[in-house]
Amino acid sequence: TLRGAPLPDDDAGGFDRALRPQLLSDFVGQAEARANLRVFIQSAKQRGEAMDHTLFHGPPGLGKTTLAQIMARELGVNFRMTSGPVLAKAGDLAAILTNLEARDVLFIDEIHRLNPAVEEVLYPALEDFELDLVIGEGPAARTVRIELQPFTLVGATTRMGLLTTPLRDRFGIPTRLQFYTEDELFTIVDRNARTLGAPADEGGAREIARRARGTPRIAGRLLRRVVDFAVVDGDGRVTKELADAALTRLGVDHLGLDGADRRYLKLMADHYGGGPVGVETLSAALSESRDALEEVIEPYLLQQGLIQRTPRGRMLAQRAWRDLGLEAPKSSGD
Ligand code: ADP
Repeated sequence: TLRGAPLPDDDAGGFDRALRPQLLSDFVGQAEARANLRVFIQSAKQRGEAMDHTLFHGPPGLGKTTLAQIMARELGVNFRMTSGPVLAKAGDLAAILTNLEARDVLFIDEIHRLNPAVEEVLYPALEDFELDLVIGEGPAARTVRIELQPFTLVGATTRMGLLTTPLRDRFGIPTRLQFYTEDELFTIVDRNARTLGAPADEGGAREIARRARGTPRIAGRLLRRVVDFAVVDGDGRVTKELADAALTRLGVDHLGLDGADRRYLKLMADHYGGGPVGVETLSAALSESRDALEEVIEPYLLQQGLIQRTPRGRMLAQRAWRDLGLEAPKSSGD
């Protein structure tokens, strides 16, 4: 798959670690978020305090985990990582929190998927750096209060709307990540190609950047696959022609849309006259989970102006009809 979701092969051969930017100054794009983080990091360091809790939200693969790691490195503290679904019981979170050292960064990925019982434990930890743990059961149960070291929680979510209000309110620094521009992705692809020792010329790197769905993770994955084609089918060099042919073989079209994107758009056009269609209907017809549609497919199509969200459901925008080579039905005006 070429989708944005993390795959085990993301870390293939330690390449991913080698490619991950280590410092804020290596991090390309997200200029506004980066400038703000620089100030908040510097201030926390000068005051000698834990940085305020930070929430990154946005589609997968845009750099949420990377920024959290960079924060820890810039702050000069340890980085601990877990995820919402992994923390099944309050005790799981307590074990992690009680092991944190002063000012450490704790990263919780998919924080919208925290179990409510775990979330309850998190509130006093975030607010007062205290844990209230219930020991034992029934009449013998009692609560013990444990003092924690001050720490920074960095949460990441693809679905801001699914966070409970009390949790959202406890983040002093909510930060939305944006899709990357073609130029930013070009810089990333060019740099990654050098690190991998893959000779990508400017045209080749630009072709990958243009077709990476605005997402660094996809750019990295496409680069690796294109390099494979260059090695086996070509002379090893990633040129524009080679990248174009390889990406087309991988099912990435000239707009950078992949098979799932096109199936979504074609279904809307062919079966629903361009909509409006409810997301549940689309999910059933495409055999894709509603989450996958809302977290991965739709954000990019919306950003590209290919679809619109209306109170009655999703609709194809004019641009989608044009790109699909179809006439918009006359009656489809809003
Ligand atoms: P997320 O946590 O938002 O899903 P990650 O931080 O895991 O995304 O990033 C996905 C991949 O993209 C990683 O391999 C990372 O190194 C790379 N990446 C993300 N943002 C950048 C960037 N600004 N510059 C270079 N590489 C990046």
